[in-house]
Amino acid sequence: MLDKVLIANRGEIALRIMRACHTLGIKTVAVHSTVDRNLKHVGMSDESVCIGGAPAAESYLNIPAIIAAAEVTDAQAIHPGYGFLSENADFCERVERSGFVFIGPTADVIRMMGDKVEAIRAMQAAGVPCVPGSGGPLGEDARDNARIAKEIGYPVIIKAAGGGGGRGMRVVHTEAALANAIQTTKAEARAAFGNADVYMEKFLENPRHVEIQVLADGQGNAIHLGERDCSMQRRHQKVVEEAPAPGLTAAEREAIGAVCVEACRRIGYRGAGTFEFLYQDGRFYFIEMNTRIQVEHPVTEMVTGIDLVAEQLRIAAGERLRIRQEDVVLRGHAIECRINAEDPETFLPSPGLVKRFHPAGGPGVRLDSHVYDGYRVPPNYDSMIGKLIVHGPDRETAIARMRVALAELVIDGIRTNIPLQQRIMADPGFRQGGQNIHYLEKRIAEHRDKGKGIGLG
Ligand code: ADP
Repeated sequence: MLDKVLIANRGEIALRIMRACHTLGIKTVAVHSTVDRNLKHVGMSDESVCIGGAPAAESYLNIPAIIAAAEVTDAQAIHPGYGFLSENADFCERVERSGFVFIGPTADVIRMMGDKVEAIRAMQAAGVPCVPGSGGPLGEDARDNARIAKEIGYPVIIKAAGGGGGRGMRVVHTEAALANAIQTTKAEARAAFGNADVYMEKFLENPRHVEIQVLADGQGNAIHLGERDCSMQRRHQKVVEEAPAPGLTAAEREAIGAVCVEACRRIGYRGAGTFEFLYQDGRFYFIEMNTRIQVEHPVTEMVTGIDLVAEQLRIAAGERLRIRQEDVVLRGHAIECRINAEDPETFLPSPGLVKRFHPAGGPGVRLDSHVYDGYRVPPNYDSMIGKLIVHGPDRETAIARMRVALAELVIDGIRTNIPLQQRIMADPGFRQGGQNIHYLEKRIAEHRDKGKGIGLG
């Protein structure tokens, strides 16, 4: 097993990784920015190193500072968490070249999946169903592009090959708007991602977002851990996630899971990963692969009983996967509500001092959060300050437990999205299950128009 791991992240995921390390008897090194000295895991890690100023570019994205911290503390491996450097192939390469273990896949795989055109090509070759599309970057010839769009059929979506975080996408409904949309998306992609390549896909009108969790040891063994439904989104950002996906049959799960497992073997995947799909009319369409642990991983842990971060650590230590596919049994239903420091009506960030913090508890309740009484949420990073996760024998019980847990959770002093999450849990459409990716935004817009809460209509 590994002896000491440096955690190159902050907040709830740094705490989550620290807990997994300590459970396995691994020592931890916390790295933090100047405003993050009082983060919960910093005080609980075996060692900690301040790596730079508050802006992420000076600290959590500062590769030389992170590698230097691993050197001075004699860490063996680096866990990147999610966000920040977690899908940066250059970082992975530099970590490995400096003699440390990168807890994740190889740099080549990260690079391939980071270019969505390359990723789609690799997935098509591995037999993964993809959205009908251009199958490569779009060229300059307007007539060629118009022909491709006509073949695919409007509406189409223009997407940046290097895009991420829901940015760099544009929906086109008519040929008249096509050329202009391609040029604009290219210019934006060049500015935002340093890569002007864009590609075209059929725009699916009412899909759900269903993703498959995989684990692979890079030694030929791979398994899937079922799916998560992340269709409750606002601005392409997930708000609520659950497992299993309402209404998905065991046969559908096994079929798409087997496809993902086979793809892992073909591309030589190592570690935890997620195949993201759009799911419409009973069919799966691959959109991208995340080569890291995801925010919503706990719902999979709750229904499988498998500690995904511990598995990442075991794989990084060179162990072979011990869990066989037939050992993966899904039990009950799990739901995660992301808790954000933001105004529940305007969605504007609400950093500041948490005057009073009171966690939720009880059967099947899990709170992954670094917040405590007197913690100050800095304005410099993502507004997510925790995740409330519940598990129950069925979806209805899980929703009931979530409603109680949300009512119990107190975070005073700053505004949070807890009221929004309460309205979602009370909403008849959500309770019915199986809504598409546009549902939440539609309900929020209705709420604005009528000036009343979602779930009241
Ligand atoms: P990112 O890496 O920026 O998250 P994705 O490719 O994962 O980009 O897409 C993010 C979201 O955009 C999806 O969850 C979905 O809501 C929407 N989307 C992407 N591609 C399509 C498509 N072909 N049709 C409809 N919606 C899409």
